[in-house]
Amino acid sequence: MDMRFDTVYYEPNAFDYELGQMLRDKYAYLPWVQIENHNRIPELTAADNRDFQKLKRHLIIGVRKTHRYMPNHKVSDWLVPYTSSGCRAMCLYCYLICNYNKCAYLRLFVNREQMLDRMLKKDAAAAVPQTFEIGSNSDLLLENTITDNLHFTIERFAREGRGNLTFPTKFDMVNPLLALDHRGKTIFRMSVNPQEIIDRIELGTSTLSARIRALNDVAEAGYPVGLLIAPVILLPDWKRLYGELIERLADELSEKITHNGFIEIILMTYSFIQNAINTDAFPNAVQLFNRETMTGRGRGKYRYRNDARAEAESFLRKRISRQLPAMPILYIS
Ligand code: SF4
Repeated sequence: MDMRFDTVYYEPNAFDYELGQMLRDKYAYLPWVQIENHNRIPELTAADNRDFQKLKRHLIIGVRKTHRYMPNHKVSDWLVPYTSSGCRAMCLYCYLICNYNKCAYLRLFVNREQMLDRMLKKDAAAAVPQTFEIGSNSDLLLENTITDNLHFTIERFAREGRGNLTFPTKFDMVNPLLALDHRGKTIFRMSVNPQEIIDRIELGTSTLSARIRALNDVAEAGYPVGLLIAPVILLPDWKRLYGELIERLADELSEKITHNGFIEIILMTYSFIQNAINTDAFPNAVQLFNRETMTGRGRGKYRYRNDARAEAESFLRKRISRQLPAMPILYIS
């Protein structure tokens, strides 16, 4: 993954934190531009959609001020705003665009002690141990290559937490995680798609082989693991693509995963904001909006029509029950 940045935009109070100081030294060779608020950088908000790829080369460093947890009912109890939002990669369907529009660049929040303290407190105060999804605003494995935040988080939560942490990723840089004292409290979820979709749509992410290898490694290191087949994109030859993907997963995943892991499946949603940015910033890219198979679901968002969804769901369930029979499908959404 190309993790080069060209400019750092920073809130000055970020340097009150150890991580802020570490990042100041690490990126001392780049131009640093002082900002008042990581949420409002007028010169970047004013950029054109076609500048999207350039915007992604900026790194924003600030202090997270809002810490509102959202209840969740899939693999976790809470979605937690954690150490980053936005991402250096450029998946054409990235859901973060709906929140941040073209300003979906990587923002790092340096007050990690405060965020982890809050999570541990919430876990301790609950009647039963809680599961926290910490990766819903970013890809934490990618972020970890800059901040080492997963080391900091996983080991302290293992010692002091009662419940679980979880995050999904599309990357393979798992080596720094393998020897951590995680005590089985971090659930690692790898997001997969056919290699042709990774090449054309998940721009800047790890290859399918690398993701499979990484998932085998974390399972071997004792982490509980899951597989996210997401987002399922119904390109014209989707049955071939996803049929081959499931076959490959069955062949190459270790028994630790095929016997103990679980599966989540999410069909792609898309929005007119993503479509506008992709049209201007990636004019030759594959067209994700399909008038025949998609339908509006309000506020400029689209999803696959019910008949297309039902066909995909039944196809995937059949193939998985045949080739990965011991892996439960937690949900298809
Ligand atoms: S890796 Fe995840 S967060 Fe990053 S661009 Fe892709 S979908 Fe968005």
